[in-house]
Amino acid sequence: MNVCQTCGACCASFRVDFHPAELAGGAFAWGAGVPREMTVPVTPAIVRMAGTDATEPRCVGLAGEIGKIVNCTIYDGRPSPCREFDTEHSACNRARQRCGLAPL
Ligand code: SF4
Ligand code: SF4
Repeated sequence: MNVCQTCGACCASFRVDFHPAELAGGAFAWGAGVPREMTVPVTPAIVRMAGTDATEPRCVGLAGEIGKIVNCTIYDGRPSPCREFDTEHSACNRARQRCGLAPL
């Protein structure tokens, strides 16, 4: 199992903003794209994954329990910020620390 499947900290730490063209049906959607109803509009050029700017952030797309077992329910269509974030990202351990998880 990939370490990210036992973590999920980055999905519960940072705002996830992207261009509306990555929404389902958009010109730059990955796979099925991001369902519009899982996002909130920010500006005409930015939408945000719902839940990621809450006081206790948690993306609405995340299922499971942080630090135990998680999965992204829209994995194939997840937006570009999520595709660019992995264990090599400089903020990975910051997210893990925030969620009380040991650094990798
Ligand atoms: S914080 Fe790091 S280890 Fe955890 S899910 Fe995100 S990329 Fe994976
Ligand atoms: S869309 Fe998926 S990968 Fe991206 S923050 Fe939400 S749950 Fe995490």
